Amino acid sequence: MHFEEGKKLSELTTFGLGGPAKFFIAVSTIEHLQEVIRYATQNNIPFFPLGKGSNVLFDDRGFHGIVILNKISFCEENAGEFYVGAGYSFSLLGTQTARKGWAGLEFASGIPGSVGGAIYMNAGANGGEAFQTLKEVTFVNEEGALETLTKDKLSWGYRFSSFHHKKGVIVSAKFQLTPCKEARGKQLNIIDYRTKTQPYGEMSAGCIFRNPPQNSAGRLIEESGLKACEKGGAKVSPLHANFIVNTGAATTQDVIALASHIQNTVKEKTGIKLEMEVKVIPYQTEIS
Ligand SMILES: Cc1cc2nc3c(=O)[nH]c(=O)nc-3n(C[C@H](O)[C@H](O)[C@H](O)COP(=O)(O)OP(=O)(O)OC[C@H]3O[C@@H](n4cnc5c(N)ncnc54)[C@H](O)[C@@H]3O)c2cc1C
Repeated sequence: MHFEEGKKLSELTTFGLGGPAKFFIAVSTIEHLQEVIRYATQNNIPFFPLGKGSNVLFDDRGFHGIVILNKISFCEENAGEFYVGAGYSFSLLGTQTARKGWAGLEFASGIPGSVGGAIYMNAGANGGEAFQTLKEVTFVNEEGALETLTKDKLSWGYRFSSFHHKKGVIVSAKFQLTPCKEARGKQLNIIDYRTKTQPYGEMSAGCIFRNPPQNSAGRLIEESGLKACEKGGAKVSPLHANFIVNTGAATTQDVIALASHIQNTVKEKTGIKLEMEVKVIPYQTEIS
């Protein structure tokens, strides 16, 4: 087992934030992943599965455990059933399937996560979400055993899946898509709209807050006069108020201070408490 010590998590996240991981390892096979998880569990070391780091905010001190980067990446097709490794790009999957005339994952185009992260978060946009076309998931549990979970064994909701309550790592998934001539056109419109309305080239983790029921977090933030508000190197995007961007010199503390200022101001002005969508990962944690 070759762990790298002190790997900078800022290099592995789209926010460009986070201190060093005590231990870091990238896995490309299921067997290697099983070995790492068994080692972590037997030695009582917390582990954290990382995909493309596009929905996480690591602590400035880093992570006191093992960060496991999932690089299990493949994509096989059989009559509209796509069998994909959890480390595969979710955005690429959305683009490739639409280009081939399959509908169901057009919305994924432009979501910069991995397939595993998208299932964990039940990522969604434009009326679509990862669980809509999902058939089954394979998962390595905390004992290192491989489980196959069909959709009826799982639960999901808005940016939620039952994996939030399961320790282990998603290794692959099957999606069933349907043939559709308009899929490519739909996907191109989605990516076009996305690049015009979101701060795409900037460092962020996407929407920082969940949308409250029947409401829009971005609109509430904008109406509370917080667009372009800054704390240290963290700034509310002038393009999309539900994005906090790292202007280059931000720390995780700056992002947390700005998020907390937004929550307090929006609560004061509208009575609504915004909840974080981005996963804030404590330095010391029991979660996997
Ligand atoms: C510019 C931008 C736009 C975005 N737009 C959208 C959008 O439209 N819709 C949307 O829903 N999200 C959006 N996001 C957020 C993010 O891309 C998604 O949540 C994505 O699915 C996260 O995947 P990831 O691989 O980056 O996960 P990570 O950030 O690496 O991890 C997120 C969580 O998933 C867990 N996880 C990751 N991989 C695994 C695995 N294999 N097994 C078990 N757990 C795992 C992690 O432990 C962590 O808790 C956006 C982000 C950015 C930066």
